[in-house]
Amino acid sequence: MAAFDDLMAFQKETEALSQVAGRLGWDQETMMPRGAAAQRGEEMAAMEGVLHARRIEPKVADWLAAIDDASLDQVGQAQMRDIRKSFARTQKIPADLAAEIAKVTSQAQGQWAEARANQDVAAFLPVLENVVRLKREEGQALAEGGDVYDAMIDDYEPDMTAAELGAMFDAMRPRLVALRAAVLEAEGPKPLNGRFPEVAQLALSNKLAAAFGYDFNHGRIDKAVHPFSSGSGQDVRITTRVAVDDPFNCFYSTVHEVGHACYEQNIDNAYLLTPLGRGVSMGVHESQSRIYENQLARSEAFTGWLFDQMRSSFDEFDVSNAREFYGTVNRVANGYIRTEADEVQYNLHVMLRFDLERALMGGDLAVKDLEAAWNDRFAADFGYAVDKPSNGVLQDVHWSVGLFGYFPTYALGNVYAGCLNAALRKAVPNLDAQLAQGDTSAATTWLKDNLQTHGGLRSPRKTIEHACGQAPTSGPLLDYLELKFKDIYGL
Ligand code: ZN
Repeated sequence: MAAFDDLMAFQKETEALSQVAGRLGWDQETMMPRGAAAQRGEEMAAMEGVLHARRIEPKVADWLAAIDDASLDQVGQAQMRDIRKSFARTQKIPADLAAEIAKVTSQAQGQWAEARANQDVAAFLPVLENVVRLKREEGQALAEGGDVYDAMIDDYEPDMTAAELGAMFDAMRPRLVALRAAVLEAEGPKPLNGRFPEVAQLALSNKLAAAFGYDFNHGRIDKAVHPFSSGSGQDVRITTRVAVDDPFNCFYSTVHEVGHACYEQNIDNAYLLTPLGRGVSMGVHESQSRIYENQLARSEAFTGWLFDQMRSSFDEFDVSNAREFYGTVNRVANGYIRTEADEVQYNLHVMLRFDLERALMGGDLAVKDLEAAWNDRFAADFGYAVDKPSNGVLQDVHWSVGLFGYFPTYALGNVYAGCLNAALRKAVPNLDAQLAQGDTSAATTWLKDNLQTHGGLRSPRKTIEHACGQAPTSGPLLDYLELKFKDIYGL
């Protein structure tokens, strides 16, 4: 069909340009000389202008009208589903609203950083009011009479609703609060002590990436302030960071980003530079990073191998055997910061944000009451008070840049990872024997064949269902967490 071929050719060029824009962003965080920031801003704005013009290109509407989706094969229909949805989205948002959101969120990010540094919530609230108002307007335009917050979630996790997430999280919360309290009352493993030189950390970090199947021929690892993964297809780069007193930060950041990157590297080459050639949703993406990081790399079997690696990479450190090391890697401790949270507490941090932003978007919570609501909820779930705003309501950048509906995908990714781990363990019964040798190939091949290779072919929910053979639920994750941490803490 000529219209379909023309549309796909146009789409491929757009995807290619979008990859170039992404690589400019990667460069800015890793290699760019500091003095180039202003020019880079102009370069990225110019790229964004080109991409925006292509997104609203009138020819696309003509092609969409001319194409009969039913005459296409399964892959063609999936491509069309994605293209039609993106095009409809751009049509629903008035251009002046989109421009105002871009302007206000860029101001808000700077004001958030300053307010956080000064512990001054009041200084941030006026601009946050503006962001919330504009995002609600955008949500109303997208929802067309439906739920505003659902429309926002749909940008990150298509076909998921706030009601479904809310029910899932409400059921998880009491078990996680109880597990957290029980674990922190018990006598736990010691934290790691010592100094771990950067060069040796980075060498072992590269070894870990290779052990998890990261393809250095189609990627590279650099240092950045915040670890991230960038790109898709044949060029997927990651970053990591180093703290000399905390090698786990480097190692587990690396493995986490390797999970994201392997997903992108392993998508079927036939989808390269098409809408299906990217991870299907934020939740499914996070399921890959989390299963690599937690269910695999923090397992007792794999940490046994890692313990040996650490002993040959570093001088004496105060952990005497593999069992003790497993506890140290998985140690649960009080803390305010989501990004530093352990497996037991992480989802509680996410659920707090989900409930608050859902109330903000639904009009049930005013921006001026946000800090008090945050502090009340934190005390209820964690049992102690927030000590300062940078440890509380000002800790995350997300709301300042207008990311509403994004937080829940972190916890959903953990739920998906729990389901995938249960299915993987059934499919590969001797997995631990391999992990104990530092061999992850049976696990990563299973994930590649059953999930990663399919890219955006199916909806997020169907993607997980296809891999696991059943619809995702929170049961496997909660069972895994309770079993693991009751064992480590001797409960
Ligand atoms: Zn991630």
